[in-house]
Amino acid sequence: MTFPNLLGRAPKHGLVRCNYVDAGTPCRAPATWHVAWHFRPPAEFSLVCNEHMAVVQQELVYVDRHPAAVNCDMPGTAWQTSTPSRCVPVTVEDLVTRAKTSLALHQGEGS
Ligand SMILES: [Zn+2]
Ligand SMILES: [Zn+2]
Repeated sequence: MTFPNLLGRAPKHGLVRCNYVDAGTPCRAPATWHVAWHFRPPAEFSLVCNEHMAVVQQELVYVDRHPAAVNCDMPGTAWQTSTPSRCVPVTVEDLVTRAKTSLALHQGEGS
């Protein structure tokens, strides 16, 4: 099974674009969905339009999705896995909290 190249980076125009590449040509239509392929670091996400969301749903496996917003294509934002999920700006404080949490988790593994 071959996966389409969905990782091309879109220019930052404040308008999210579909990154779906079909026969070497990026779609570039306004994106309506933000798709998470997996959350294992480095997590992988793609922005897709309605038409390509239909293709993704038929042919590919993803773990989460939410309607595309400007935050979805901004540097320094992160996927928040609430219900529904969304992309939120990450603050330095968040990163510190996350580092502490991950440290706590590792200490708790005890082996
Ligand atoms: Zn598209
Ligand atoms: Zn998003």
